[in-house]
Amino acid sequence: MNSPPSYDPELALAALTDLHHPIKLKTAEWAAAELVDEDLDRRDVACEFWPGGWARAADHGLIGSMVDMDHGGGGDDIITALLRFEGLGYGCEDAGLAFALSTQVWTMQPLIQRFGSDEQKAAYLPGLCDGSLKGAFCITEADSGSDTFSMATQFEPNDQGFVLNGTKSYVTMGPEADVFIVFATKDSALGQWGITTFLVDRRAEGVSMGPNRPKMGLRTTPFCDVTFDGVQLDASNVLGTVGSGASVFSAAMEAERAFVLAAQIGAMERQLDQTVAFSHSRRQFDQAIAEFQAVSHRLAEMKLRHDNSRLQLYRSAILFARGTPSMEAAALAKIQASEGAVASSLDALLTHGARGYVTEFGIERDLRNVAGGVVYGGTSDVQRNIVARMLGRKGKR
Ligand SMILES: Cc1cc2nc3c(=O)[nH]c(=O)nc-3n(C[C@H](O)[C@H](O)[C@H](O)COP(=O)(O)OP(=O)(O)OC[C@H]3O[C@@H](n4cnc5c(N)ncnc54)[C@H](O)[C@@H]3O)c2cc1C
Repeated sequence: MNSPPSYDPELALAALTDLHHPIKLKTAEWAAAELVDEDLDRRDVACEFWPGGWARAADHGLIGSMVDMDHGGGGDDIITALLRFEGLGYGCEDAGLAFALSTQVWTMQPLIQRFGSDEQKAAYLPGLCDGSLKGAFCITEADSGSDTFSMATQFEPNDQGFVLNGTKSYVTMGPEADVFIVFATKDSALGQWGITTFLVDRRAEGVSMGPNRPKMGLRTTPFCDVTFDGVQLDASNVLGTVGSGASVFSAAMEAERAFVLAAQIGAMERQLDQTVAFSHSRRQFDQAIAEFQAVSHRLAEMKLRHDNSRLQLYRSAILFARGTPSMEAAALAKIQASEGAVASSLDALLTHGARGYVTEFGIERDLRNVAGGVVYGGTSDVQRNIVARMLGRKGKR
């Protein structure tokens, strides 16, 4: 993506207005048939990734969807890719797998395609598209979360290039990854001006992964701490240019915030359809519970949140593809989709009564899976800071 991704205005309009667009439906049908895993309950408890599902998604061309064909991708325009990811979320109940796939397509690959040298693209993109390689994005540290540029991970120039030292936390797909995008500072006193981004191979000496860290939801996406202990790098490892890390980070966040929740928006629609169906079949006081106004209004709210999330998703995509990406639009899209999914998952749980709370029906799993969305990619507070700055707030933090 040296230039903005292509987009077809007619398709964008269709995506905005047609909930049942054929591209989305086709992917949803494929995912419902191919990404069904009888073992999901056990893997969710055990925090286990599903390599078989990953391989099927790769064979289906989903992982390389937006990468250009010269580098092994499918060359999809951004609207097609989003419709496919919505369909993935609708059809695939393993939200951890969908999240793992989303991080590749909306964070890893666009950064390498946009900032990578020809050699880096040739080395990594074909494998990242055909699923034989996996990537992970490393910025957060134990003491540097929202305050990203206070990071302690440091690169020190030496005769052969740079030596990298530090530990990154909560790295999605860290235990599985073959290549890491790593942000490091030359000197933390330099703030954002001191940051450089590196592509680091898992096999490099001094790279080690901590154990998979169990978490509330998305338990089938492994994540861990990754330590870089005296890792020797050279100019060929720099992604972008030395000192341009803040720009790489900014590009990553804009795309991640706007688009990484596309699959989750698809899952919201499945949750709504399922909750509506349940409300019409479950009877209390001699009538379907859908007839109670309290229940029907909850369904209407779920519909509203899902619709708003989609509209903001595709608005961000159109802005992005026109070459006028908007931090504000991305932040609004992230707040709407992440908080909307939490609220709707609670509504789904309440509507199912005790069936929503016990684990055997998978209703409570949705709530656990979506809770992380208000944290990763920048917390809801941080997104509101961005929006407030656009409204004239002066404070930088
Ligand atoms: C499922 C999941 C996947 C993740 N994947 C990755 C990954 O692949 N790579 C990676 O590098 N990181 C990843 N992270 C980490 C994530 O990016 C951070 O958790 C996030 O940026 C918040 O940082 P923190 O957890 O240190 O919280 P903190 O920054 O310590 O925030 C704590 C609280 O303070 C509030 N706060 C902090 N600063 C401000 C401010 N300026 N204004 C208002 N409120 C503020 C926050 O909103 C929050 O409520 C992941 C996290 C999760 C949950």
